[in-house]
Amino acid sequence: MDLRAVRKIKSDENTSKASLAPCLHGNTTQPNVAGTEVIDAGAGLSAVRRRAAAVCFAMLICALLSICLSACGAGGGQRLNRYSAQYFDLFDTVTVFTAYTSDEEEFNRFAEEMHEEMVVYHRLCDIYNDYEGINNIKTVNDNAGAAPVQVDERLIGLLEEAAGLCKLTDGAVNIAMGSVLSIWHDYREAALADPAQAQVPPMELLKEAAAHTDIADLKIDREASAVYLADPKMSLDAGAVAKGYAAEMVCRKLQADGLTCFMLNVGGNVRTSGRKPSDTGGGFLRFGAADSGEAWSVGVQNPDTDSREAYLHTVGIADCSLVTSGTYQRYYEVDGVRYHHIIHPDLLMPWNRYASVTILCEDSGLADGLSTAVFNMEISDGLELIESLDGVEALWIYPDGTEERSSGFAAYEQ
Ligand code: ADP
Ligand code: MG
Repeated sequence: MDLRAVRKIKSDENTSKASLAPCLHGNTTQPNVAGTEVIDAGAGLSAVRRRAAAVCFAMLICALLSICLSACGAGGGQRLNRYSAQYFDLFDTVTVFTAYTSDEEEFNRFAEEMHEEMVVYHRLCDIYNDYEGINNIKTVNDNAGAAPVQVDERLIGLLEEAAGLCKLTDGAVNIAMGSVLSIWHDYREAALADPAQAQVPPMELLKEAAAHTDIADLKIDREASAVYLADPKMSLDAGAVAKGYAAEMVCRKLQADGLTCFMLNVGGNVRTSGRKPSDTGGGFLRFGAADSGEAWSVGVQNPDTDSREAYLHTVGIADCSLVTSGTYQRYYEVDGVRYHHIIHPDLLMPWNRYASVTILCEDSGLADGLSTAVFNMEISDGLELIESLDGVEALWIYPDGTEERSSGFAAYEQ
């Protein structure tokens, strides 16, 4: 996640309220944006792909599909329709929300609730922009070494989770690496603006910044709902966990408010709830007991984005998340070497050991954090960690196309 680019999207928001309106379409088993029922599980989109996706989504805005499926179970079962909406103003990526509801009005209500909550998380996690009346991570960073900052309890929850993930992964994902990550961010942005001048940041500069990344200096006071960075040169960057954590929290809220069957895809960070009502043939869907119906098919993106094959695998998941971290999502090149956006905490450089790491587990926040962390681990350490966690599976794809799986991953493959 790169919140700096959000500014562009936000300016659209300021000038045109309409651009915030979801793109709504009723849907059958017709192909969705990804071209099949499968939804892209790549955690982000490269700049080019993002532009293409934006065009594609813009076209979809015009496509209000009139086909609306009635779900009519035996014995007067629940009638459900499938709806989908896209958003462009969250976490610098495209968000797709799909749900089965009784009617469009019900869908709109939940979609609005989802969007409002996600906007809150988006703003709380922003490290580049201030928002009136909100203390966010930028505010916390601006006050490093100076004063504790009072924040919304939702941000406290996210930071606690992120600190826990840092501990669990022995620092392989560390939101306190903001000082190092911002250097890479600036060099990447400069390189993308002027590829001929692309440079790798000097190691001295990176090392100097790395002296200010101790997660122990992140002081969270839950009772006072306050956060303090004890090192004045430290800064937070929640990019590795924010989308997943937000998706998880919003998913739970929607479930608590009565929505059972939906998928929230925040730039490839996919969280599903419930099983999809089955197509009974003849265009009707049947929605019986909560555990009936089909799993959601989610694709594992091919890291080779030049390939015609968009997905290497599809997995069937219900009440589960699928999240990928990969080298193809955000990167620049110097002398033919790719420098992507996941920074190894010891090397202080992007590590090209894997092309992507995909995590499958229920909790989307855990999946997001682990996808970044395991990407930075040797295969033996990553496998050991994944196997030690209940209900968590992983797929590693190497640059040469070879793969490694945790013991239970294949059981989800379709
Ligand atoms: P994406 O956000 O593209 O889905 P990730 O979940 O892997 O992909 O997160 C990558 C983002 O996390 C980077 O853009 C950067 O902001 C941040 N990041 C990169 N390396 C690390 C790391 N070792 N620890 C914590 N955050 C990181
Ligand atoms: Mg992640």
